[in-house]
Amino acid sequence: MKSPGELGSGARPHVMFIPSAGMGHLLPFLRVIAALARHDDVDVSVVTVLPTVSAAEADHLAGLFAAFPRVRRADLHLLPFDASEFPGHDPFLLRWEALRRSAHLLRPLIACGAAPRVSAIVTDVTLASHVIPISKELNVQCHVHFISCATMLSLLAKAELGPGVGDVDIPGVRRIPESYLPQPLRDLNNVFTKQFIDNGREIINADGILVNTFDALEPAALAALRDGKVVPGFPPVNAIGPLDSHTASTANAKQSEPAGSPVAWLGEQPARSVVYVAFGNRSAVSRDQLRQIAAGLEASGCRFLWVLKTTTVDKDDNTEVEDVLGCGFLERVRGRGLVTKAWVDQEALLKHPAVGLFLSHSGWNSVVEAAAAGMPLLAWPRGGDQRVNAMVVASGGFGVWMEHWSWDGEDRLVTGEEIREKVKEVMSDAAVRVRAMKTGEEAAKAVAEGGTSYRSMQEFIGKLRAT
Ligand code: UDP
Ligand code: UDP
Repeated sequence: MKSPGELGSGARPHVMFIPSAGMGHLLPFLRVIAALARHDDVDVSVVTVLPTVSAAEADHLAGLFAAFPRVRRADLHLLPFDASEFPGHDPFLLRWEALRRSAHLLRPLIACGAAPRVSAIVTDVTLASHVIPISKELNVQCHVHFISCATMLSLLAKAELGPGVGDVDIPGVRRIPESYLPQPLRDLNNVFTKQFIDNGREIINADGILVNTFDALEPAALAALRDGKVVPGFPPVNAIGPLDSHTASTANAKQSEPAGSPVAWLGEQPARSVVYVAFGNRSAVSRDQLRQIAAGLEASGCRFLWVLKTTTVDKDDNTEVEDVLGCGFLERVRGRGLVTKAWVDQEALLKHPAVGLFLSHSGWNSVVEAAAAGMPLLAWPRGGDQRVNAMVVASGGFGVWMEHWSWDGEDRLVTGEEIREKVKEVMSDAAVRVRAMKTGEEAAKAVAEGGTSYRSMQEFIGKLRAT
């Protein structure tokens, strides 16, 4: 079988990737980088900013360069950045801002990079408004890798947020109620909102957009973007998901897992008996709410594997599970519940036959990984794009969205009793399970030779050669 976009003779593309901060942004980048780096006739560079905000980012970048020695590292040294200008802001968002303010330093990296000359850039959306103009000046193709769903891309493309915001009607896609928008977008002075609007306005000038989704998952949003219904003249949108793991380790990990590790533990559990609980790569739930989740899982009687993150930045985490979830909890669930604070290979865990349900914050990477694994979701969005993502889950029918469960910043705690009831109900919901399996089959078809995502990837690689 040929790999997507197998290159013939002709120009040798050199693609420079410019990822942004946060694992939710970096991981999908690493997956596309690995897909291209597997082609001998494509040169790949990755703009790297060290030190990274989190240890997970540093580990994954090191893993990429070790696995693909041909991939070049292009170090970007940020200008000094005064974070005190933005008190209380998330350190990842502040890194986006620091990157944006140093973006002009990308010019020499792109223009004078190692031979052959850089012929195309793939930038994270958070940097788009700065990187696209530089690429135009240097006459280099610029593609945006959009790490959320096509529905969210359509919201960004509208970029018409004004005072009062209100519900947003996206032609050909859907109406997004104000309460489902990322919370900061309700404040036009928020630094996130300013970035969002600037990037949304500039993205129309990109040469193409890559999205980690697939046609069967978001048919209406993709069609509306491509037909110019959302914004006339919008760049070509290549839906290339589900992106596959960037390392070969996912398949091999099972054999080398130490006793007591999540994979080894799952190996001892009956088929589809375990609820996998994870809310992304950083803390997304208050301490009080975590205790209610613990109570709900305990009362459900279900087996569970809980990947617990208690801080925004992993390096700051020095708490014990017992301190967070309450004394005696681990003892009471011993044998049927495993809680880990370590980094796990979530993509592999979701494919494990012992897992029967994913209680998730519906970060887009998690949603796509669940879709690829044919895993039913119990979606409990907490912030950012997650309610928009949950709309996609609900309309696809491969999960249940708890639309009225609390959103970050709201006071109400979802009680352990509510969580117990819903977990039990969705664990035994045969219709959702069938729909999830069907979604998994559609995902596999999309990336198989001749599938929609396979062809989209070919088309993208074809464009890289046309310089
Ligand atoms: N992830 C993982 N192991 C962990 C925590 C997170 O593999 O211990 C991965 C997860 O599979 C997903 C990404 O990190 O690919 C998180 O992205 P997502 O969009 O789901 O949520 P975010 O963390 O950005 O809110
Ligand atoms: N986003 C965007 N344009 C921007 C900044 C962010 O489209 O200038 C998207 C980003 O891809 C994500 C969403 O806005 O899908 C919300 O970001 P969030 O606050 O959830 O942070 P993240 O999970 O991306 O770190």
